[in-house]
Amino acid sequence: MRLISTAGQAPEVGFAEALSRGLAPDGGLYLPRELTPLPPEAVAGLRGQPLVETARRLAHHLWGDDLPAPSLDRMVEEALPFEIPLRPLDPSTGLLELFHGPTLAFKDVGARFLARLLAATRPPDSPELTVLVATSGDTGGAVADAFWRVAGTRVVVLYPRERVSPLQERQIAGLGENVQALAVMGSFDDCQRLVKEAFLDPELAATHTLTSANSISIGRLLPQLFYYFHAWAQLPAGAPPPLFSVPCGNLGNLTAGFLAARLGLPVAGFVAATNRNDVLPELLATGVFRPRPSLPTLSNAMDVGHPSNLARLLHLVGGDLGALSRELVAGAWSDDETLEAIREVDRRFGVVLDPHSAVGWLGLERARAGRQEAAYGIVLATAHPGKFPETVEAALGRSVPLPPALEAAARRPVHAVPLAPELVALREFLRTAA
Ligand SMILES: *Cc1c(COP(=O)(O)O)cnc(C)c1O
Repeated sequence: MRLISTAGQAPEVGFAEALSRGLAPDGGLYLPRELTPLPPEAVAGLRGQPLVETARRLAHHLWGDDLPAPSLDRMVEEALPFEIPLRPLDPSTGLLELFHGPTLAFKDVGARFLARLLAATRPPDSPELTVLVATSGDTGGAVADAFWRVAGTRVVVLYPRERVSPLQERQIAGLGENVQALAVMGSFDDCQRLVKEAFLDPELAATHTLTSANSISIGRLLPQLFYYFHAWAQLPAGAPPPLFSVPCGNLGNLTAGFLAARLGLPVAGFVAATNRNDVLPELLATGVFRPRPSLPTLSNAMDVGHPSNLARLLHLVGGDLGALSRELVAGAWSDDETLEAIREVDRRFGVVLDPHSAVGWLGLERARAGRQEAAYGIVLATAHPGKFPETVEAALGRSVPLPPALEAAARRPVHAVPLAPELVALREFLRTAA
């Protein structure tokens, strides 16, 4: 695979280089230079296949020239040891449950592939890769879990001591082995600053190969297109192309859907559903891009005021907003509407949604209201409702049981090292505590 930068000023690179760089040197984001669609009979052949088989065929299609086949097969099996079922709500609506991974959110898919892609694209005798992550809570857990026991990697997660929830702390600091947790005596901003300083530090550069598990990484983005194909593959033969509704923040999930369509997935269109951080719906409605600080909402993983993957989305439609509008409708919803949606879905279907997925459901309802033909609609359910007990309780007056994965995490002992918020302390830790 050859990759280009969305900013158009950086040289084309191979996959391993795009992966290790993260951001292109011109500040753009990497995208495949071209995507060869799967032949229609190969798409048809995915029907009814298990998730791992669909992912395997797509991984070979994408990276067959970059990585040996056995390595790709192993990667897919290790990254996806869970189901992504399409749960029917009614005869024309399905919920794609992306939350059966270890941290119960869809980011598990991208993070778990990224960990294995980084390990697999490095030459065999490379020095250990040190992944540095600063977290305010959730991302750290997903990244820590994704890299746990991945050979050749060491993960160091920095979180603000006493400012994450007890469960989040156990997800970050309860794994051990190649995952190390630093409880920084300071704020999340201190953690982020320390990570930035470490990347710029010549002393560390001389002794360590540092990398980040940033959300803009192409290695996190591409694997997300696998589950769009898997959703389609679970529809009955002869079903019309589905309409996908995606709860959006940084637009990585939506961009993966656009990539799936370019690889030959039959789709009727996409819905971008946001909370009141409505930069994308506003752009489509007015033609004006107005990035701004994010506002806090109940669907907090979507509280993004400057969506980083917009550059990719626009690049895929040749920078043409009219073309984007032909593939995509967008809308924004308030917290009150989100709570009402959780109530309505519970009442009508007996299914409890988390606040992010509830916004996705609202998007699908609105998009279908304006259509003549009854498209089959798929809502991407991005998190388990058990992760948001306060919101579910506020909507329904009851909570949902804690899933077994969270219960197990809640029992882990915490092994964290307290750290002063200074680069010298981090340097010392990285040097000694291998
Ligand atoms: C990150 C996240 C989103 C937003 O996904 P993007 O790819 O950033 O648009 C939606 N829901 C949940 C639960 C998330 O964690």
